[in-house]
This record gives sequence, C-alpha cells and structure tokens, in this order.
Amino acid sequence: MTEISQTSLPIGRGLRGRCPRCGEGKLFTGFLNLRPRCEHCGLDYNFADAGDGPAVFVILIGGFIVVFAALVTEMLYQPPYWVHAALWLPLILIVTLAPLRPIKGLLIALQYHHKAAEGRVERRGDV
Ligand SMILES: [Zn+2]
Repeated sequence: MTEISQTSLPIGRGLRGRCPRCGEGKLFTGFLNLRPRCEHCGLDYNFADAGDGPAVFVILIGGFIVVFAALVTEMLYQPPYWVHAALWLPLILIVTLAPLRPIKGLLIALQYHHKAAEGRVERRGDV
C-alpha cells in the first residue's frame, strides 16, 4: 500500500515551490520568476499564470492582520504615531513578502491539478 504524504499533494508541492507534477523540481528561478520547465520531469511551465491572485490574497490577508493589530493597539494603549510606524511598517513587509512566493506556488499547483485554463468557446459538434 502506497502512503501519500502531505508534501506529495499539490498543495504541499505548491507551498514548497516545487513542480506541481513530480514535486521534485524547483518552480522558481528568482523570488517570483518561474523556470521555463521542471529540471526533474520536464513539465513545461508555460501553462502557469497565477496573474494577480497571489497579490490579492496577500493584500487581503496581510491587510487584515496589520489593520486589526493596529486598531487593537490603538484602542488599548493609544501609543504615539512613531510607535505605530515602528511596529506596523516592518510587519507590513513581513506579512506581504513572506507569503507571496508560497501563495504563488500554491495557485500554480492548484491550476495544474485542476487543469484550469482560459475559457474557450466550443461549438456544437466539437468534442
Ligand atoms: Zn517536475
């Protein structure tokens, strides 16, 4: 019986920045640039187009975390503005840059897994 580990699933492969098909080859060549193909199994990454998806998720999730923390801090302590700047500017960098690459890898892995592509018009009789 074959055991499937969490890292072999498309979600784990995407979060780790690995090839969505084999889970071994690297997906990225830079911080967010994709390699042309998997160096392990040869999967062509031309299908991959996460678009603005990673940025939208980062903005929504990171924005909620920072705004919620800033509001709670203001209501409880009313610190001077320089304290807010010292606290939230570094936090903004952390909550936006850290998850960007894993989220992009996740969206590409899910795109591959679900065979998502642009919509096409099919005429009757086309199979
Ligand atoms: Zn591969």
